[in-house]
Amino acid sequence: MGDLHNARRGRLTALLAGHDVDALLVTRLVNVRYLTGLASSNAALLVRADGPAVLATDARYAGIAAAVSPDLELVVDRRTAQALTELAADGGVRRLGFEAHDVTVEKHAELAALDRGVELPPLGRLVETLRTVKDEEELALLREACAITDRAFEEILPMVRPGVTEREIAVTLERRMVDFGAERPAFESIIASGPHGAIPHHRPGERALEAGDLVTMDFGALYGGYHADMTRTVAVGRVAGWQREIYELVRRAQQAAVDAARPGAETKAVDAAARDLIKEAGHGDDFPHGLGHGVGLEIHEAPLMGYDKTGKLMDRVPVTAEPGVYLAGRGGVRIEDTLVVRADGPELLTTTTKELLVL
Ligand code: ZN
Ligand code: ZN
Repeated sequence: MGDLHNARRGRLTALLAGHDVDALLVTRLVNVRYLTGLASSNAALLVRADGPAVLATDARYAGIAAAVSPDLELVVDRRTAQALTELAADGGVRRLGFEAHDVTVEKHAELAALDRGVELPPLGRLVETLRTVKDEEELALLREACAITDRAFEEILPMVRPGVTEREIAVTLERRMVDFGAERPAFESIIASGPHGAIPHHRPGERALEAGDLVTMDFGALYGGYHADMTRTVAVGRVAGWQREIYELVRRAQQAAVDAARPGAETKAVDAAARDLIKEAGHGDDFPHGLGHGVGLEIHEAPLMGYDKTGKLMDRVPVTAEPGVYLAGRGGVRIEDTLVVRADGPELLTTTTKELLVL
């Protein structure tokens, strides 16, 4: 793993050359993890434009840090960002970029108060940009996270029937994912039954399922730090005409988005592939969110895919495609896969059927 993280830091160093800084202070913990392998609640990384990086963490993580990044110089200090800023100043760094989306005003004031003659220019989401395109090691972890997700879904289908509550389904799904090897759920599971299905991010409650409900289940496993994300909508007992109609519409829209997810595609064009079909069917206003998002070390990361988003997809970028139609007071349908954009066509990581299951 040392080589992998070393290669990632090398790509960051190359990126720093285009910014007028001597070094970057990485404080966002998920970015420190990406660049070193250290998952912790207190760490920072100094990446010099012209030399080796230095990792700082506190005594609780010192042993793990030495094990996962044996080739990195390690500073053990609770005040990680301050310690690295002082080290940078001692090493001749004059312009130390920082992650402006992470450093609070309070933390910035602490660094400035060190008064070591170091300028602190704000930098953008450089590490997040690097993280967008995954290496095959990351994709293997994500593939396993999605396999656990598929398997847990299959296991809980027999319990989806009248009388069971949304919360009971959520707890059982999450339990199964952990049984199958997940660290934990990747996010709070959404189980939305009947009229609750019209609320895209409904929190599972005490409502018991009834015959004639559509039930939307949005959940995923966390494995090796990587987040799976899948949604399926099923019917309980019977299906009304309007339910089958919006189900088939969402299914066609989702497939159109998957087919459009190619390297070089504009993210808004992938969104439009699904959205245009939903609009043509008269449900444009019933699809009030973006098409999808990147997944990786975070459940929502770049690229965001929506009608108001810019950017292009690239090879080896995992994203979700999750259109939905929500009818207030009646119910809704959402279908979501995690897939990897590939030059030879999208690789679906969640493989559960998208036929309408009537349970
Ligand atoms: Zn989801
Ligand atoms: Zn999602």
